[in-house]
Amino acid sequence: MDDIAFIWQEMLSKLEVEVNSLGFDIWIRPLRPVGVDNDTLVVAAPTEAFRGEVVARYMPLFRRILRDLELDDAPTDISVISAAEKSKENLSSTTAAIAAVTRVEKEEEEARKIEPSTLNPKYNFEGFVVGKCNEMAYAAACAVVEAPGEVYNPLFIYGDVGLGKTHIMQAIGNAIRLSMKQMKVLYVSSETFMNEFIESIRMSKNGSNTAFREKYRNVDLLIIDDVQFLSKKPSTQEEIFHTFEALKAAGKQMIFASDRAPQDIPDLDARVRSRFTSSLVVDMGPPDYETRIAILKTKAREAKFKVDNNILAYIAECVSGNIRELEGILTKVIFLTKLRGGSATLDICNEALHDYKMQKSDEITADEIIDCTCKYYNVAKADIVGKKRNKEIVEPRQVAIYLICDMMPMPLISVGELFGGKEHTTVSYSRDKVATALENDSRLRTAVNDIKAMVLRK
Ligand code: ADP
Ligand code: MG
Repeated sequence: MDDIAFIWQEMLSKLEVEVNSLGFDIWIRPLRPVGVDNDTLVVAAPTEAFRGEVVARYMPLFRRILRDLELDDAPTDISVISAAEKSKENLSSTTAAIAAVTRVEKEEEEARKIEPSTLNPKYNFEGFVVGKCNEMAYAAACAVVEAPGEVYNPLFIYGDVGLGKTHIMQAIGNAIRLSMKQMKVLYVSSETFMNEFIESIRMSKNGSNTAFREKYRNVDLLIIDDVQFLSKKPSTQEEIFHTFEALKAAGKQMIFASDRAPQDIPDLDARVRSRFTSSLVVDMGPPDYETRIAILKTKAREAKFKVDNNILAYIAECVSGNIRELEGILTKVIFLTKLRGGSATLDICNEALHDYKMQKSDEITADEIIDCTCKYYNVAKADIVGKKRNKEIVEPRQVAIYLICDMMPMPLISVGELFGGKEHTTVSYSRDKVATALENDSRLRTAVNDIKAMVLRK
């Protein structure tokens, strides 16, 4: 073993202890030591994107470990280059080694003969925020990346729209493609699978659809999204079944996602259903408040958008449940902020949230607003809609009236009826009193925002 290989080996054994095994397999194992340049150990990453990830994640750790090795004549620094980047002529001593790595790269790419990936590189683990709502799916995803085809096969993920099913499945595919270059990964929606299947039959002269079968049965990882669309498609289900059996027998990994559990997909062949549930089924739920904040922070960082935490907290309070909607509102806030110049404000948030609230307001009832207000102030509903005039009751009552007027298209007379037959002038008085107080009273503002968030979350 030459010096460089020895030093790298020493580093690897330390890194293996400090980095979790998934990170180690994905990001560190594929690195190759290629030379020493001016006391700097040069290691090569397979691609430029890979290099960027490694530098961002591990550079300080690499430096510390290298420093702690205390080997005689060891390099004092480390740099990561991309093997694909061929123009590093100035690194004279390493050029040949880089060229060699590049050649291997190309050969592997050739061997794979893979069509352009159907995966979206933006869906990676780096940008996936883990919270209570998705920790099981995340753990399962990590296990699949570490040992495809071995542990959870198939992995079946289900949950409502916009909660990250497509993201996490593609992250698995991207991670496997990065770490195991020879693996063939295919991601399709069940509709694409069906359309290609039908097309293959239509085109075939003798009823055999060899090309289609070759495509789907000759992969190491098959990901099929939105399998709920297979409902009532018996011949496509049959083809899925045979594809499943072929891949399973060959030890190849499969991942499926659906907006509901396998047992809740109607008109699904019993054999297909039993295959879907034959290994691990995990669900993804809506994110809690902390996770929503973390997601917003991640998305803001990805968009290189500087924003105060209170703005993110406000969005996270108002938008619950669906991560796609959360992201959509943030995108709009970013857009409006850039349009106006300056930084994001609560007014901009409210503008961005306008359509979202309108759509939600169709689903809101006055009773819900009253209930949430009572819960927030810890008062009885009978009191709030009754005649008591003590301070503890008057504020919640006025706030509830204000919120109903603000959040619902309800005539003042009808609002008055909800509160023991009040005149519409009394209703408008309460509404305006709260609206005015909100301008200066931050305690009241917090109360109103919190109750609003409670209502919207229902
Ligand atoms: P689904 O397939 O469940 O309908 P997607 O995977 O398309 O949902 O997710 C919707 C959007 O929300 C995507 O832009 C995705 O990046 C984002 N998203 C979902 N879950 C997370 C998460 N845990 N962390 C960061 N972004 C997420
Ligand atoms: Mg999806």
